[in-house]
Amino acid sequence: MTSAPRWVTASAPAKTNLLLHVGSPTPDGYHPLETLFVAVDLRETVTAALDPALVGTGVPVTVEPAPGSEYARMVEQGAARLSDIPLDGQNLAVRAALAVRDVVGVPVPGLTLHVRKAVPVAGGMGGGSADAAAALVAVNELLAEHLGTAPLTPGKLSRLGAGLGADVPFMLLGGAALGRGTGTELEPVPTSAQLHLVFVPQDRGLSTPAVYRRWDDAHDLPGTGAPDPVPAQALAALDPADPEALAALVRNDLQAPAVELLPALADVLDHGAKLGALAGWVSGSGPTVCFLAHSADAAEHLVRAFSHEGRRALATAAPVPGARVDARG
Ligand code: ATP
Repeated sequence: MTSAPRWVTASAPAKTNLLLHVGSPTPDGYHPLETLFVAVDLRETVTAALDPALVGTGVPVTVEPAPGSEYARMVEQGAARLSDIPLDGQNLAVRAALAVRDVVGVPVPGLTLHVRKAVPVAGGMGGGSADAAAALVAVNELLAEHLGTAPLTPGKLSRLGAGLGADVPFMLLGGAALGRGTGTELEPVPTSAQLHLVFVPQDRGLSTPAVYRRWDDAHDLPGTGAPDPVPAQALAALDPADPEALAALVRNDLQAPAVELLPALADVLDHGAKLGALAGWVSGSGPTVCFLAHSADAAEHLVRAFSHEGRRALATAAPVPGARVDARG
């Protein structure tokens, strides 16, 4: 008989939005979205461990850059600060762990979390949301096995995730999906595509609320109305994969406000186009810039060309699976 694990490690992907259409804010200030998400092969890893000595206390969290990741190089070179990540009850992984613990309800032993970050912080790739998704999965599995109870269902985890952040349900699901509402109403999109992407992270983050405020300033409010739907051609371009067709349809309504706040992004986008990228866009609310390449070789060529000029760039693939358990012990 195997005994219940004392720790569980789960991972969850970053994301980019191939299309991100924004509508006028509702009276409570939320912008309705129509978006096409893809999960990106850059994973955050969260280990949840039992610590009986911590009964009744909060959930201590430690964070390290994932060894060998571009984010680790950014931290080493002073281009990113680990101190930008909260280590208290604001940390999204901690909030996720507490959410699961609250639902389980019965007294449970104390928990600790360790996060290995590979996704640049405040980059528009949803790294914090990935931490939350990985923590939801890790803590759910750990507590269910410890207590000998059924784990929370994927639907329940997704609802808990939506309470933590609009991107968290997608990080749980992975693959490709249409997102509506604030991005939490998901419809999986069948895809046989393997997209070759290149991300160019920036040395400073952009605040998502600041980008939306800029979008508001540029639109006559109220009256812009509902976001444009994601066209059926964009879904068709994922199955079977047609990167050229997809490249022609890529659109991010938050790109213009992000570029206004950080004009250097326009140069990065121009440069990628000159280097032969099929398409380039600001990822989510930015400032990471994402490029679509023809092939894995073309993506590596782009990375080398950017690196020659002293810019950071990393090649990765999409779509990939959502949050999942990777190890236990
Ligand atoms: P989004 O587009 O969803 O806003 P993002 O990729 O631009 O996401 P994140 O890396 O998720 O940005 O971080 C946004 C902010 O969330 C950070 O500035 C940080 O203060 C806060 N935060 C809370 N928990 C975490 C976490 N585990 N990792 C990173 N940031 C976190």
